[in-house]
Amino acid sequence: MSERPARLVLVINCGSSSIKFALVDESRPDFLLHGLAERLGGEDARLRWRQGDDKQSQALGNADHRQAMATLLPLVEKQAGEQLIAVGHRVVHGGEDFTAACRIDDAARQAIEQATALAPLHNPANLMGIDAAMALFPQLPQIAVFDTAFHQSMPAHAYRYALPEALYTQQRVRRYGFHGTSHRYVTAEAARMMGVPLSDSGWLSAHLGNGCSTCAIQNGESRDTSMGFTPLEGLVMGTRSGDVDPNLHSFLARTLDWSLEKIDTVLNRESGLLGLSGLSNDMRELEQAREQGHAGATLAIEVFCYRLAKSLASMRCALTRLDGLIFTGGIGENSALIRARTLAHLSMLGLVMDDDANRRCVGGVAGTISQAAQTAAPQIWVVPTNEERQIALESLACLDTDDRAAH
Ligand code: ADP
Repeated sequence: MSERPARLVLVINCGSSSIKFALVDESRPDFLLHGLAERLGGEDARLRWRQGDDKQSQALGNADHRQAMATLLPLVEKQAGEQLIAVGHRVVHGGEDFTAACRIDDAARQAIEQATALAPLHNPANLMGIDAAMALFPQLPQIAVFDTAFHQSMPAHAYRYALPEALYTQQRVRRYGFHGTSHRYVTAEAARMMGVPLSDSGWLSAHLGNGCSTCAIQNGESRDTSMGFTPLEGLVMGTRSGDVDPNLHSFLARTLDWSLEKIDTVLNRESGLLGLSGLSNDMRELEQAREQGHAGATLAIEVFCYRLAKSLASMRCALTRLDGLIFTGGIGENSALIRARTLAHLSMLGLVMDDDANRRCVGGVAGTISQAAQTAAPQIWVVPTNEERQIALESLACLDTDDRAAH
């Protein structure tokens, strides 16, 4: 019997001035090629890429998204050849239209465009990537994988705000949630490593990067998540405040005469760990400063961990059973301190951490950090996220579903 040839997917994640890309082989965990085109539209635009241990970079002049994509195309083709079968695009917002990854045709493109009102910074950049890739790879299927799609399984009692109904029906104001690709990936990985069926299990997941969110996952489906209408809701993040009293807006406008733009900027870019510490949004820097007795850094870490624990405890309401809690993202994967300080507030969930295991699971090491004797208790897991791989897998699953429908 002949082996099926490797199936490769080019994964594209377009920001307003950058393109992250990865060439993913379905059958292996590492990337065949990955890189970043950054500062697009500026004089110092640059493409950096890595193939195994080989790192390279190239100046791109004033390249825009299309030109950057045209430069990386030959690199991808050389590496992938005939085995490249799809391009998978990260798309931030799918509104209520998309509950799973979908093949991008005219109708899907239009729906992504219509969701731009909900994600004015992200969806237009994602569309630039889609248009450039469609022009350059017209023969390949293009698939959109949405940050919001995983959370479309939330029940109404979790996604509706207590606001007048017309704001939901006419303005689409509801909780959407983000980071769905990551929460989905790490939950499947943790269930696999723990040996429990994903379809009959309950999980809490904490994605802690520059943006942070928690999620409750029952039987492989998101039942609630901490981000809402926008990624500002919920946890304390690098520069985002997370939850504040909604009356804060009118207070700041009245007492300081701040405009809506100014309030948006302060809450999204000057708050969170940066605002609390007065020092940095980078957790590594804050941990070092805390070691040296910096009061702002110490407070920022305490607030971050307490608010995270509070969110996880409340997410437990969405689950009928708890098999485990997962830490992921740059902070979740690397900071033994943040995990320990957070778990110290969560004894009511029956989670018992092992200090040595907690110290060992850093720098990409996956594993349980629960005490070995606590076999009946929910387990605590550290799982490095891999959103590019998840986007590739969902793209392939989407193609397979289309193929089955066609036969
Ligand atoms: P993004 O959301 O941009 O993908 P990451 O998932 O890379 O971000 O997470 C970035 C965060 O992870 C930063 O706050 C960074 O300080 C933190 N981080 C990375 N490594 C460590 C570490 N060894 N210890 C503590 N925090 C870390």
